[in-house]
Amino acid sequence: MGNDCIFCKINNREIKSPIPYSNNTSFAIKDIAPKAPIHFLIIPKIHLTNLTAFGDQNFDSMKDMFKLASEIVKQENISHTGYRLVINQGNDAGQQVPHLHLHLLAGIQLGEMG
Ligand code: 5GP
Ligand code: ZN
Repeated sequence: MGNDCIFCKINNREIKSPIPYSNNTSFAIKDIAPKAPIHFLIIPKIHLTNLTAFGDQNFDSMKDMFKLASEIVKQENISHTGYRLVINQGNDAGQQVPHLHLHLLAGIQLGEMG
């Protein structure tokens, strides 16, 4: 486990934070510094640093992350307007928190990637 990991601490309630959406193996929080009007972080409950640490045994988590994304876009009414899902991995992508997470961005015309 990542003892000093912010996302693990939010998951185990050491850090108090609203968790508006969750399912068996993943949960979602609002990004503290949103880059779009709607910006959720979808996070596996298990501590995995990044996709490289991800193995066959973790596929239920991956499935649940995307299931949660699909539930959020329905609840937030953004299925039709559109949204973007992003994983930042490592230095070149600017990954800040070393616990795998999926960004869900929406609510504005998003800029080009890259
Ligand atoms: P990364 O760059 O690692 O893909 O994204 C990490 C994201 O986590 C950033 O967008 C940052 O604003 C967000 N973040 C960092 N610390 C916290 C926190 O304590 N609470 C919440 N809700 N978001 C956080
Ligand atoms: Zn963690």
